[in-house]
Amino acid sequence: MENYDNIYLEPGLKESITKLKNSMNAVIMAHSYQTHDVQSIADFTGDSLELARKAADTDADVIVFCGVDFMAESAKILSPSKTVLLPDTEARCPMAAMCDVQGLVDLKKQHPDAVVITYINSSAAVKAESDVICTSANAVKIVEHYKNRKIIFTPDKNLGSYCSEITGADIILWNGYCYVHDEFSTGDIYIAKHQHPGCLLLVHPESPREVLEHADFIGSTSQIIKFVEENASAMDEQAGVIIGTEIEIANTLQNRFPHKKIYPLAEHAVCRQMKKTTPEKVLKSLQSGTTEIFVEKSVRDKALGALKKMLELS
Ligand code: SF4
Repeated sequence: MENYDNIYLEPGLKESITKLKNSMNAVIMAHSYQTHDVQSIADFTGDSLELARKAADTDADVIVFCGVDFMAESAKILSPSKTVLLPDTEARCPMAAMCDVQGLVDLKKQHPDAVVITYINSSAAVKAESDVICTSANAVKIVEHYKNRKIIFTPDKNLGSYCSEITGADIILWNGYCYVHDEFSTGDIYIAKHQHPGCLLLVHPESPREVLEHADFIGSTSQIIKFVEENASAMDEQAGVIIGTEIEIANTLQNRFPHKKIYPLAEHAVCRQMKKTTPEKVLKSLQSGTTEIFVEKSVRDKALGALKKMLELS
């Protein structure tokens, strides 16, 4: 369990959030890349799919989504009758923005037989133009299913390339990337391994190929967390793990396992968009009902179809 005892919030802030949240029948969801301040006021934390599913399952009328734009949209797609609020509208994922609908429509025209597999880190409109969605945890499995067909993979070229390598599938890669993971380099690995000899390197598949080649374990955020949970007792005092994903995951794991050696691969692995949300903005969002996320019904219906296809294949 996460320990939030060392979190300092303005006096009365947490109480004001809780009071308002209860009176509105609201829940607060926080992605695991959010700051510990924000995670400490959340009802649920997790990756984007876990949170979207929890949002759909809850009886709450209002969901305050502490994450980025596409995550709030996914929650709205799965829970159309609920009010979904994004506390900071500037919290937009740059990778999702790299894939535009018209560009995808044009690419589909060039390859009419291709199946379009889209990473969940994408806009609702792009999901609606896709045949099936994937997450970083199930991308290989989804690509494997379609490996005998031509595949268009959007928007993350690194995740698509990794899937192609594992499955041998013929994939047309969209040229998008997550800057947080794409900036990992072999130089980062050299420094981290030198500073922490004997540690295992765990890396997210949004990272470049030359980084993945050095990994002892490749997995999604939740798979990396699970790996540490399952191996924590075997991690001795000398050797531990180097975490190659957004820095909050290493911080969270270190907080949960204070006596284990857990290091971030690089200090620069910070998603600035994820850090835009603060507890103060969450309170303001509850007070003013801003900013509500809407997804047009025609887009929602098609995007939901692609999400359901993923759930069927997972
Ligand atoms: S970590 Fe990468 S994929 Fe996730 S929100 Fe930030 S930029 Fe987007």
